[in-house]
Formats: sequence, structure tokens, C-alpha cells
Amino acid sequence: MKLLEDKILAEGRVYPGKVLKVGAFLNHQIDVPFLTVLGEEFYRLFKDENITKILTVETSGIAVAYPVAQLFNVPLLFGKKNKTKNLSDDCYCAKVTSYTHGTVYEVVVEKQFLTSADHVLLIDDFLANGCALEGLLDICAQAGATVAGAGIVIEKAFQDGGKKLRERGLRVESLARIADMDAENGITFISQD
Ligand code: 5GP
Repeated sequence: MKLLEDKILAEGRVYPGKVLKVGAFLNHQIDVPFLTVLGEEFYRLFKDENITKILTVETSGIAVAYPVAQLFNVPLLFGKKNKTKNLSDDCYCAKVTSYTHGTVYEVVVEKQFLTSADHVLLIDDFLANGCALEGLLDICAQAGATVAGAGIVIEKAFQDGGKKLRERGLRVESLARIADMDAENGITFISQD
């Protein structure tokens, strides 16, 4: 999506460790009209899939998922990052390795909010190694919910998460796919024409 690529080039910053900071419009300050345009694109891509729920992970995924849920007119459900050891039996839980923090955390979703009747669209801001999406897929599997696919704002295609998940049969739609990036040479995208 050219509009998104231009926004990333204008406002994104590449940090050591191949981390892209997009705090200017997505991860800190939120450009609401712009995220609404991204939401419209996810809606266009998945509108025929009979979606009943949008599932993401707190925190950054929520802002991206919000306009998508509004357009589908379905609930936005987000996995909570659990910090305690006392998990209730009323929750689905999956372990996720955080790319940006290098730590392992648990994503928790209350069972009452996700069932085998659900047809789920996963949404997230970034796809890197695929751990966050794998955690959400695990939770959907525990619930017996059907996953229609995943909508990602920025895929770091030089990492293998997208490849692994597509090979597993998941439909992954990324609005911008980064071929490579570093502070010296900047960011290059995979053409999506
Ligand atoms: P994965 O689990 O696919 O390795 O990484 C995806 C998650 O890590 C996303 O939910 C996102 O929050 C975070 N992430 C991965 N790479 C980046 C990055 O370059 N920049 C930012 N801001 N977040 C990232």
C-alpha cells in the first residue's frame, strides 16, 4: 500500500537490531484518520469472510484493530499480556516471545469471549518472527474458533514469520512488506503490484 510505504519512509525510524519505530503514527502517537484508512483496506480484503470477531494483542494492536472492528461491526477482542502466575480456568492462555523486549509473556483471553462459533480475523501492527500471531492462533485453536486470516500493517519480510505462517496455510495480508532495512541504507519494500 503506497500510502503506508510513504508514511513509513517519512515518519519511521530504523533502530539497531532491525527494529522500526513508528511511534509518530502507530505505536505512541496515533494518527486516527490514517489508521481508519488502513482499517478500510483490511475490510476490503476480508469482507467476504463472514468475520464475527477481531482478535489482537495489547497494546499496539488495539488501535489498528479498532477501525477494522467498527467496519465489520463485530467485537474487538484483545489478548491481555499476563504478568501473574495465577491463571483462572476461565481463560485461554498462550506463551509468546516478545521480539522487541526479548522476553516471554503469556497472552490471556477469557473463554466467554471466544467460542467455536467464531470466525476470527487476527490483526497486528507488525509481523516479524511470527510469535505473536502463533500465540493468537494457539488461543483460537483452544477455543475451536475458525481463523479466516491475519491482517498485518508492517511485515518485516526479511524475518521468517510470514513465510512460516503462510506455509501453514494461514492467509496473511500485509499492507507493507519490508525487504530489508538499516540505519545507513534506509528501508526497501517488496513491491505488491
Ligand atoms: P513477532 O511476534 O512476529 O516476532 O513480532 C511481532 C510483534 O513484535 C508485534 O506485535 C510488535 O509489537 C513487535 N515488533 C516486532 N518487530 C517490531 C518492530 O520492528 N517495531 C515495532 N515497533 N514493533 C515490533
